[in-house]
Amino acid sequence: MRKVYLDNAATTRPHPKVVEAMQPYFTELFGNPLSFHSYGQAAKKAVDEAREKVAKLINAKPSEIIFTSTGTEANNFAIKSAATANQQKGKHIVISGIEHHSVLYSAKAMEKLGFKVTLLPVDKYGIVNPEDVLKAITPETILVSVMHSNNEIGTIEPISEISKITKEKGILLHTDAAMSVGNIPVDAAGLGVDMLTMSAHKFYGPKGIGALYVRKGARIVPFIHGGIQEDGRRAGADNVQGIVGMGMAAEIAMEEIPERVKKITPLRDKLIKGLTEKIEHIHVNGHLTNRLPGNVNICIDYIEGEAMLLFLIKEGIAASSGSTCSSKALKASHVLLAIGVSDATAQGSLLFSLGRDTTQEDIDHVLTVLPPIVERLRAMSPIYNK
Ligand SMILES: *Cc1c(COP(=O)(O)O)cnc(C)c1O
Repeated sequence: MRKVYLDNAATTRPHPKVVEAMQPYFTELFGNPLSFHSYGQAAKKAVDEAREKVAKLINAKPSEIIFTSTGTEANNFAIKSAATANQQKGKHIVISGIEHHSVLYSAKAMEKLGFKVTLLPVDKYGIVNPEDVLKAITPETILVSVMHSNNEIGTIEPISEISKITKEKGILLHTDAAMSVGNIPVDAAGLGVDMLTMSAHKFYGPKGIGALYVRKGARIVPFIHGGIQEDGRRAGADNVQGIVGMGMAAEIAMEEIPERVKKITPLRDKLIKGLTEKIEHIHVNGHLTNRLPGNVNICIDYIEGEAMLLFLIKEGIAASSGSTCSSKALKASHVLLAIGVSDATAQGSLLFSLGRDTTQEDIDHVLTVLPPIVERLRAMSPIYNK
């Protein structure tokens, strides 16, 4: 059976060169970077080089990169450490209503500690209006967090416009760029953000390694206490092999991003066009052009996303319904609800996320098998009558 992987928003297949680069750090190069002997120094050199590569990918300085265990940790770090460090100035946090749960629930956790959290609305495409950021800011506001691109609907947010506002007001700005970094160009310095989240497994690196960019001078407190790793801000023995893998993924991305965008965008548009032509009562979520190259998010009325997923699995197609993290809960996605999709329609959501390995044949396979699946399910549906 043909196997088609269209769930790159959940995770990507590590690039073969990434796996190869990591290999020696499980065997002969097993040292701890804090040790002075040759084992340690070899590991330290590898970590330093990886830090430079990750920094270069987002136009930052190596000293501005803090490695974390995941993108989730980087988001927790950004929200909690920035809020804690600046609470004397005020206790108000502003985030968009379509943030990843690791930002959303970190902010909610701060609410329990006495902070106030404002959720920004988005338009029907999922775009945050910078004017709404300005309106939400009060003298108490210390932190704004708006994601660089959304993991479910692919919408890219106007971060540089938002940073003009936060800079003028002297407020920290964080952006969760986990879906963007390595897939589209991201320039942390150019964007004018204070903090930026990355996750290696979203761009052909290994799972379990991420990073937080913290602009020099931005005020945060340490997130994990212990040793002197990561400048004392994130203690714990370095995940050397993971860091090396992330560095290699960054190096490859530097070179491959233009090709990736050029290859994946037309495949995305072909899938969107084919599905909307072949299936009735279908909606494309997010913006048609201002979106990640690999993102196709649709809602198909009168059927459940989960049912379609099961039939797709039978045809060898791996996709997702809403976000990986919330799809198990069978709850309508907060992102779809925020862009005005009804609860009923949100149940019929499907996310196809394309990647560097996606081919024309993969897209053709989906276009061949999905329309009959929809017909079959609709024929069984009590709420559908043509
Ligand atoms: C995947 C993802 C995360 C979490 O990263 P992990 O490394 O999987 O914890 C955070 N935010 C966004 C937008 C993501 O897509």
